[in-house]
Amino acid sequence: MPDKLSGPDQKAIDRFLTPFRVTDGKKFRLKDIDPADTRGLKSKEQAVSYLQRGIQVLAEMQEKLYAQDQWGVLLMFQAMDAAGKDGAIKHVMSGINPQGTQVYAFKAPSAEEIDHDFLWRTTRSLPERGRIGIFNRSYYEEVLVVRVHPEILEKQKVPKKLVTKDIWEERFEDIVAFERYLARNGYAIAKFFLHVSSKEQKARFLERLERPEKNWKFSLADAKERSHWNEYMDAYEDMIRHTASEHAPWYVVPADKKWFARLVVAGAVYETMRPLDLKFPAVDDAKRKDLAAAREALLGEGNGRRSGGTKVRQSRKAAKG
Ligand code: ATP
Ligand code: MG
Repeated sequence: MPDKLSGPDQKAIDRFLTPFRVTDGKKFRLKDIDPADTRGLKSKEQAVSYLQRGIQVLAEMQEKLYAQDQWGVLLMFQAMDAAGKDGAIKHVMSGINPQGTQVYAFKAPSAEEIDHDFLWRTTRSLPERGRIGIFNRSYYEEVLVVRVHPEILEKQKVPKKLVTKDIWEERFEDIVAFERYLARNGYAIAKFFLHVSSKEQKARFLERLERPEKNWKFSLADAKERSHWNEYMDAYEDMIRHTASEHAPWYVVPADKKWFARLVVAGAVYETMRPLDLKFPAVDDAKRKDLAAAREALLGEGNGRRSGGTKVRQSRKAAKG
Protein backbone atom coordinates (compact mmCIF):
# COMPACT_ATOMS: atom_id res chain seq x y z
CA MET A 1 0.00 0.00 0.00
CA PRO A 2 1.40 3.46 -0.81
CA ASP A 3 2.53 5.59 2.15
CA LYS A 4 -0.42 7.87 2.23
CA LEU A 5 -3.51 7.88 0.07
CA SER A 6 -5.74 10.87 -0.09
CA GLY A 7 -9.46 10.33 0.32
CA PRO A 8 -12.13 11.50 -2.09
CA ASP A 9 -11.89 15.21 -2.90
CA GLN A 10 -14.52 17.75 -1.95
CA LYS A 11 -15.97 17.61 -5.44
CA ALA A 12 -16.60 13.88 -5.19
CA ILE A 13 -18.06 14.27 -1.70
CA ASP A 14 -20.42 17.03 -2.87
CA ARG A 15 -21.48 14.91 -5.80
CA PHE A 16 -21.89 11.47 -4.25
CA LEU A 17 -22.47 12.04 -0.54
CA THR A 18 -23.95 15.39 0.34
CA PRO A 19 -27.29 14.76 -1.45
CA PHE A 20 -27.87 11.62 0.61
CA ARG A 21 -26.62 12.77 4.01
CA VAL A 22 -29.30 13.84 6.49
CA THR A 23 -28.14 15.64 9.64
CA ASP A 24 -31.37 17.48 10.38
CA GLY A 25 -34.53 15.58 9.65
CA LYS A 26 -37.08 18.38 9.78
CA LYS A 27 -37.29 18.85 6.05
CA PHE A 28 -36.50 15.30 5.04
CA ARG A 29 -38.89 13.59 2.63
CA LEU A 30 -38.21 10.10 1.36
CA LYS A 31 -39.77 10.93 -2.01
CA ASP A 32 -36.89 13.35 -2.63
CA ILE A 33 -34.47 10.43 -2.96
CA ASP A 34 -34.76 8.31 -6.07
CA PRO A 35 -33.63 4.71 -5.41
CA ALA A 36 -32.34 4.55 -9.00
CA ASP A 37 -30.18 7.69 -8.73
CA THR A 38 -26.51 7.26 -9.67
CA ARG A 39 -25.54 10.96 -9.80
CA GLY A 40 -24.82 10.72 -13.49
CA LEU A 41 -22.56 7.66 -13.35
CA LYS A 42 -23.53 5.39 -16.22
CA SER A 43 -22.00 2.05 -15.31
CA LYS A 44 -20.38 -0.09 -12.69
CA GLU A 45 -17.06 0.39 -14.48
CA GLN A 46 -17.21 4.12 -13.85
CA ALA A 47 -17.70 3.55 -10.13
CA VAL A 48 -15.01 0.91 -9.70
CA SER A 49 -11.96 3.16 -9.61
CA TYR A 50 -13.59 5.43 -7.04
CA LEU A 51 -14.59 2.45 -4.96
CA GLN A 52 -11.17 0.74 -5.10
CA ARG A 53 -9.42 3.88 -3.96
CA GLY A 54 -12.01 4.43 -1.24
CA ILE A 55 -11.49 0.91 0.08
CA GLN A 56 -7.71 1.43 0.29
CA VAL A 57 -8.11 4.71 2.12
CA LEU A 58 -10.46 3.07 4.60
CA ALA A 59 -7.94 0.31 5.28
CA GLU A 60 -5.31 2.93 6.03
CA MET A 61 -7.63 4.84 8.36
CA GLN A 62 -8.67 1.70 10.16
CA GLU A 63 -5.04 0.80 10.99
CA LYS A 64 -4.61 4.18 12.64
CA LEU A 65 -7.94 3.93 14.44
CA TYR A 66 -6.79 0.61 15.89
CA ALA A 67 -3.30 1.82 16.81
CA GLN A 68 -4.65 4.96 18.45
CA ASP A 69 -7.27 2.99 20.39
CA GLN A 70 -9.37 5.97 21.43
CA TRP A 71 -12.27 6.44 19.06
CA GLY A 72 -14.83 3.81 18.21
CA VAL A 73 -16.79 3.75 14.96
CA LEU A 74 -20.36 2.49 14.74
CA LEU A 75 -21.97 1.84 11.35
CA MET A 76 -25.60 0.75 11.30
CA PHE A 77 -27.35 -0.71 8.28
CA GLN A 78 -31.09 -0.77 7.78
CA ALA A 79 -33.01 -1.74 4.68
CA MET A 80 -35.89 -3.68 3.23
CA ASP A 81 -35.01 -7.28 2.31
CA ALA A 82 -32.78 -7.81 -0.72
CA ALA A 83 -31.63 -4.17 -0.70
CA GLY A 84 -28.01 -5.34 -0.54
CA LYS A 85 -26.96 -4.76 3.08
CA ASP A 86 -24.78 -7.86 3.19
CA GLY A 87 -23.06 -7.12 -0.12
CA ALA A 88 -22.41 -3.49 0.80
CA ILE A 89 -20.85 -4.50 4.11
CA LYS A 90 -18.76 -7.19 2.44
CA HIS A 91 -17.43 -4.95 -0.34
CA VAL A 92 -16.79 -1.78 1.58
CA MET A 93 -15.02 -3.61 4.39
CA SER A 94 -13.09 -5.93 2.07
CA GLY A 95 -9.72 -4.22 2.53
CA ILE A 96 -9.97 -3.97 6.28
CA ASN A 97 -8.16 -6.11 8.81
CA PRO A 98 -10.86 -8.39 10.31
CA GLN A 99 -9.29 -7.98 13.76
CA GLY A 100 -10.27 -4.33 13.70
CA THR A 101 -13.95 -4.88 13.01
CA GLN A 102 -16.86 -6.40 14.88
CA VAL A 103 -19.97 -7.31 12.89
CA TYR A 104 -23.32 -8.20 14.43
CA ALA A 105 -26.57 -9.13 12.72
CA PHE A 106 -29.71 -8.51 14.75
CA LYS A 107 -32.62 -10.84 14.05
CA ALA A 108 -35.95 -11.21 15.84
CA PRO A 109 -35.03 -11.00 19.55
CA SER A 110 -34.59 -14.08 21.74
CA ALA A 111 -36.51 -14.66 24.98
CA GLU A 112 -33.54 -13.36 26.95
CA GLU A 113 -33.35 -10.23 24.83
CA ILE A 114 -37.09 -9.55 25.16
CA ASP A 115 -36.61 -9.72 28.92
CA HIS A 116 -34.60 -6.47 28.76
CA ASP A 117 -34.99 -2.89 27.61
CA PHE A 118 -34.85 -2.37 23.85
CA LEU A 119 -31.32 -0.97 23.77
CA TRP A 120 -29.84 -3.80 25.81
CA ARG A 121 -28.76 -6.27 23.16
CA THR A 122 -27.15 -3.72 20.87
CA THR A 123 -25.40 -1.96 23.77
CA ARG A 124 -23.72 -5.24 24.67
CA SER A 125 -22.41 -5.46 21.14
CA LEU A 126 -20.98 -1.95 20.82
CA PRO A 127 -17.47 -1.92 19.36
CA GLU A 128 -14.48 -1.42 21.59
CA ARG A 129 -12.46 1.74 21.16
CA GLY A 130 -10.15 1.41 18.20
CA ARG A 131 -12.62 -0.78 16.30
CA ILE A 132 -15.25 -0.44 13.66
CA GLY A 133 -18.54 -1.98 14.77
CA ILE A 134 -21.05 -2.89 12.11
CA PHE A 135 -24.67 -3.51 12.97
CA ASN A 136 -26.56 -5.39 10.27
CA ARG A 137 -29.98 -4.16 11.50
CA SER A 138 -30.05 -2.49 14.89
CA TYR A 139 -32.28 -0.96 17.56
CA TYR A 140 -33.92 0.91 14.70
CA GLU A 141 -35.96 -2.25 14.06
CA GLU A 142 -37.82 -1.18 17.21
CA VAL A 143 -39.39 1.71 15.30
CA LEU A 144 -39.68 -0.14 11.97
CA VAL A 145 -40.80 -3.77 12.00
CA VAL A 146 -42.25 -3.34 15.51
CA ARG A 147 -44.22 -0.30 14.35
CA VAL A 148 -45.50 -1.98 11.19
CA HIS A 149 -46.49 -5.08 13.19
CA PRO A 150 -48.20 -4.00 16.43
CA GLU A 151 -48.50 -7.67 17.44
CA ILE A 152 -44.71 -7.68 18.01
CA LEU A 153 -45.04 -4.76 20.41
CA GLU A 154 -47.78 -6.62 22.25
CA LYS A 155 -45.44 -9.55 22.84
CA GLN A 156 -42.75 -7.30 24.27
CA LYS A 157 -42.81 -7.17 28.04
CA VAL A 158 -43.02 -3.42 28.50
CA PRO A 159 -45.65 -2.73 31.24
CA LYS A 160 -48.95 -2.03 29.49
CA LYS A 161 -49.52 1.36 31.06
CA LEU A 162 -46.25 2.59 29.53
CA VAL A 163 -47.31 1.65 26.02
CA THR A 164 -49.25 4.67 24.80
CA LYS A 165 -49.71 6.40 21.46
CA ASP A 166 -46.52 8.31 22.27
CA ILE A 167 -44.36 5.22 22.23
CA TRP A 168 -42.68 5.93 18.88
CA GLU A 169 -41.89 9.55 19.79
CA GLU A 170 -40.48 8.28 23.08
CA ARG A 171 -38.32 5.69 21.37
CA PHE A 172 -37.01 8.32 18.95
CA GLU A 173 -36.11 10.54 21.89
CA ASP A 174 -34.35 7.72 23.70
CA ILE A 175 -32.39 6.76 20.59
CA VAL A 176 -31.31 10.36 19.98
CA ALA A 177 -30.21 10.68 23.61
CA PHE A 178 -28.35 7.36 23.44
CA GLU A 179 -26.50 8.35 20.27
CA ARG A 180 -25.57 11.72 21.77
CA TYR A 181 -24.22 9.86 24.79
CA LEU A 182 -22.14 7.63 22.53
CA ALA A 183 -20.83 10.61 20.55
CA ARG A 184 -19.78 12.31 23.77
CA ASN A 185 -17.94 9.14 24.70
CA GLY A 186 -15.88 9.08 21.54
CA TYR A 187 -18.01 7.10 19.10
CA ALA A 188 -18.34 8.25 15.51
CA ILE A 189 -21.67 7.07 14.15
CA ALA A 190 -23.15 6.68 10.67
CA LYS A 191 -26.50 5.15 9.86
CA PHE A 192 -27.40 3.78 6.46
CA PHE A 193 -30.80 3.22 4.93
CA LEU A 194 -30.22 1.34 1.69
CA HIS A 195 -33.20 2.60 -0.23
CA VAL A 196 -34.30 0.07 -2.84
CA SER A 197 -37.49 0.49 -4.90
CA SER A 198 -40.36 -1.94 -4.63
CA LYS A 199 -39.91 -2.79 -8.30
CA GLU A 200 -36.23 -3.63 -7.89
CA GLN A 201 -36.94 -5.71 -4.79
CA LYS A 202 -39.46 -7.73 -6.79
CA ALA A 203 -36.89 -8.30 -9.54
CA ARG A 204 -34.34 -9.50 -6.96
CA PHE A 205 -36.84 -11.87 -5.33
CA LEU A 206 -37.69 -13.31 -8.77
CA GLU A 207 -33.99 -13.81 -9.44
CA ARG A 208 -33.69 -15.69 -6.15
CA LEU A 209 -36.48 -17.99 -7.33
CA GLU A 210 -35.10 -18.49 -10.81
CA ARG A 211 -31.43 -19.09 -10.07
CA PRO A 212 -30.80 -22.34 -8.17
CA GLU A 213 -27.68 -20.96 -6.47
CA LYS A 214 -29.78 -18.10 -5.12
CA ASN A 215 -32.79 -20.20 -4.02
CA TRP A 216 -31.50 -20.47 -0.45
CA LYS A 217 -31.84 -16.73 -0.05
CA PHE A 218 -35.51 -16.64 -0.92
CA SER A 219 -37.95 -16.39 1.96
CA LEU A 220 -41.70 -16.52 1.56
CA ALA A 221 -42.06 -14.35 4.67
CA ASP A 222 -39.92 -11.63 3.05
CA ALA A 223 -42.11 -11.71 -0.06
CA LYS A 224 -45.26 -11.41 2.07
CA GLU A 225 -43.77 -8.38 3.80
CA ARG A 226 -44.13 -6.54 0.48
CA SER A 227 -47.81 -6.03 1.25
CA HIS A 228 -46.67 -3.62 4.01
CA TRP A 229 -44.35 -1.67 1.71
CA ASN A 230 -45.98 1.74 2.15
CA GLU A 231 -46.21 1.35 5.92
CA TYR A 232 -42.49 0.55 6.01
CA MET A 233 -41.67 3.59 3.88
CA ASP A 234 -43.71 5.81 6.22
CA ALA A 235 -41.93 4.31 9.22
CA TYR A 236 -38.51 4.84 7.61
CA GLU A 237 -39.33 8.44 6.77
CA ASP A 238 -40.60 9.22 10.25
CA MET A 239 -37.57 7.51 11.80
CA ILE A 240 -35.11 9.53 9.71
CA ARG A 241 -36.97 12.79 10.36
CA HIS A 242 -36.71 12.21 14.11
CA THR A 243 -33.28 10.65 14.53
CA ALA A 244 -30.96 12.33 12.02
CA SER A 245 -28.38 14.49 13.77
CA GLU A 246 -25.05 16.13 13.16
CA HIS A 247 -23.23 13.53 15.28
CA ALA A 248 -25.22 10.55 13.98
CA PRO A 249 -26.34 11.31 10.42
CA TRP A 250 -28.50 9.09 8.25
CA TYR A 251 -27.29 8.30 4.76
CA VAL A 252 -30.28 7.52 2.56
CA VAL A 253 -28.48 5.53 -0.11
CA PRO A 254 -30.06 4.89 -3.53
CA ALA A 255 -29.77 1.11 -3.73
CA ASP A 256 -31.32 0.01 -7.04
CA LYS A 257 -27.79 -0.14 -8.44
CA LYS A 258 -25.66 -2.10 -6.03
CA TRP A 259 -22.42 -0.61 -7.34
CA PHE A 260 -23.67 2.88 -6.67
CA ALA A 261 -24.86 2.04 -3.15
CA ARG A 262 -21.40 0.63 -2.35
CA LEU A 263 -19.72 3.76 -3.60
CA VAL A 264 -21.88 5.98 -1.39
CA VAL A 265 -21.37 3.74 1.65
CA ALA A 266 -17.57 3.73 1.21
CA GLY A 267 -17.55 7.51 0.89
CA ALA A 268 -19.75 7.89 3.95
CA VAL A 269 -17.52 5.66 6.07
CA TYR A 270 -14.59 7.83 4.99
CA GLU A 271 -16.52 10.97 5.97
CA THR A 272 -17.34 9.43 9.35
CA MET A 273 -13.68 8.75 10.19
CA ARG A 274 -12.14 11.86 8.62
CA PRO A 275 -12.90 14.27 11.50
CA LEU A 276 -11.25 11.90 14.00
CA ASP A 277 -7.80 13.11 12.99
CA LEU A 278 -6.42 9.60 13.04
CA LYS A 279 -2.68 9.22 13.44
CA PHE A 280 -0.31 6.52 14.56
CA PRO A 281 0.56 7.21 18.21
CA ALA A 282 3.65 9.42 18.58
CA VAL A 283 6.79 7.87 20.06
CA ASP A 284 8.12 9.75 23.12
CA ASP A 285 11.73 9.81 24.43
CA ALA A 286 11.26 6.97 26.89
CA LYS A 287 9.75 4.77 24.20
CA ARG A 288 12.53 5.73 21.78
CA LYS A 289 15.10 4.53 24.37
CA ASP A 290 13.22 1.24 24.76
CA LEU A 291 13.21 0.78 21.00
CA ALA A 292 16.97 1.46 20.77
CA ALA A 293 17.65 -1.03 23.57
CA ALA A 294 15.46 -3.67 21.91
CA ARG A 295 17.27 -3.14 18.62
CA GLU A 296 20.65 -3.68 20.26
CA ALA A 297 19.48 -6.81 22.02
CA LEU A 298 18.13 -8.25 18.75
CA LEU A 299 21.30 -7.46 16.83
CA GLY A 300 23.36 -8.95 19.67
CA GLU A 301 21.57 -12.30 19.30
CA GLY A 302 23.21 -14.99 17.23
CA ASN A 303 26.73 -14.20 18.40
CA GLY A 304 27.04 -17.68 19.80
CA ARG A 305 25.48 -17.04 23.18
CA ARG A 306 22.16 -18.77 23.92
CA SER A 307 21.21 -19.10 20.30
CA GLY A 308 19.59 -22.39 19.38
CA GLY A 309 19.88 -21.69 15.66
CA THR A 310 23.63 -21.21 15.85
CA LYS A 311 24.09 -24.43 17.78
CA VAL A 312 22.18 -26.45 15.19
CA ARG A 313 24.31 -25.06 12.41
CA GLN A 314 27.46 -25.86 14.35
CA SER A 315 26.44 -29.42 15.05
CA ARG A 316 25.50 -29.99 11.37
CA LYS A 317 28.93 -28.75 10.40
CA ALA A 318 30.46 -31.08 12.92
CA ALA A 319 28.50 -34.05 11.52
CA LYS A 320 29.59 -33.28 7.96
CA GLY A 321 33.20 -32.76 8.97
P1 ATP B 1 -30.82 -11.81 5.15
O1 ATP B 1 -32.25 -12.02 4.81
O2 ATP B 1 -30.07 -11.08 4.08
O3 ATP B 1 -30.10 -13.02 5.63
P2 ATP B 1 -31.82 -10.26 7.33
O4 ATP B 1 -31.19 -9.14 8.09
O5 ATP B 1 -33.06 -9.97 6.58
O6 ATP B 1 -30.70 -10.81 6.40
P3 ATP B 1 -33.29 -12.36 8.51
O7 ATP B 1 -32.94 -13.45 9.44
O8 ATP B 1 -33.92 -12.69 7.21
O9 ATP B 1 -32.03 -11.45 8.33
O10 ATP B 1 -34.30 -11.37 9.19
C1 ATP B 1 -34.17 -10.82 10.40
C2 ATP B 1 -35.57 -10.42 10.80
O11 ATP B 1 -35.53 -10.05 12.16
C3 ATP B 1 -36.06 -9.23 10.00
O12 ATP B 1 -37.32 -9.50 9.47
C4 ATP B 1 -36.17 -8.14 11.05
O13 ATP B 1 -37.23 -7.26 10.81
C5 ATP B 1 -36.36 -8.96 12.31
N1 ATP B 1 -35.98 -8.20 13.50
C6 ATP B 1 -34.81 -7.62 13.76
N2 ATP B 1 -34.86 -6.95 14.93
C7 ATP B 1 -36.09 -7.13 15.42
C8 ATP B 1 -36.77 -6.70 16.59
N3 ATP B 1 -36.18 -5.92 17.49
N4 ATP B 1 -38.04 -7.09 16.77
C9 ATP B 1 -38.65 -7.88 15.87
N5 ATP B 1 -38.08 -8.32 14.73
C10 ATP B 1 -36.83 -7.96 14.52
MG1 MG C 1 -34.11 -11.45 5.48
